[in-house]
Amino acid sequence: MNIKTCTERVILKPCSLENINYQIDTYIGCSHYCYYCYALQYAKTNWSERIITHKNIVEKLSDELKDVSPQKIYFGYHTDPYQPCEKQFIQTRKVLDLLLEKNFSASILTKSDLVIRDKYLLKNMENASVSISVAFIDNNIRKLFEYNTIDTERRINGLMQLKELGIKTNALICPVIPHVTDVVELINLLETCADTIWIYGLSILNKSDVYWQNIEPIFDQYFPKRNDLIKQAIFNKNHNFWNTLRSKLELIKKERKLDLRINF
Ligand code: SF4
Repeated sequence: MNIKTCTERVILKPCSLENINYQIDTYIGCSHYCYYCYALQYAKTNWSERIITHKNIVEKLSDELKDVSPQKIYFGYHTDPYQPCEKQFIQTRKVLDLLLEKNFSASILTKSDLVIRDKYLLKNMENASVSISVAFIDNNIRKLFEYNTIDTERRINGLMQLKELGIKTNALICPVIPHVTDVVELINLLETCADTIWIYGLSILNKSDVYWQNIEPIFDQYFPKRNDLIKQAIFNKNHNFWNTLRSKLELIKKERKLDLRINF
């Protein structure tokens, strides 16, 4: 992995999520190395290999926040704020310290349990929330699709610690890969530690997309018997696979009274 430092980029960016005005990427690039990462399609850098830190992220952000009223800011839109290099560069932590000092709050999406390092800081923010995303229970399969993430069990344990502290928690089951992701088993693992569970199918619009070119060879090599079924469902959102799964999840939602948000 190659670490570079920049000095000029804008830190506070507009955010298109509902009820959130701004988002912050504390790094450019992400060494979690998810082969399905949608950012790969738009990245102007070698996304997984080159991580760009900011030399004066706190000073720059402090300046940008001068005319912004306290509000919740989103982390994790393009890059993971708790990817491995955060241990060394602590940019996310420094930014959160500044936001707390200025009475802002944070909504965080991550695949790492490093977020629990900052749990007391997050608890002191008004209405802060943490979301984890998970898609694979089997670690050998996870490593095929997410080369450098931590296992799902650790992510879920981390989320539980945050919930026990009174922080709002969410989980994203994302991406659901047909005939690979066990959505129901993941819900079983998540239902006690996530206030809300969002479920997103793998979204590939075009076979020329970079992330499809990255993951298609994984299906070909490691899932030869399921390969055709997987591909048929990925490229057809009206496929029976999705309809059957949706019906099953609607039933679970009703019977267990869970806040499940089904997005496929
Ligand atoms: S954690 Fe998120 S940003 Fe990082 S590589 Fe994976 S999908 Fe992309």
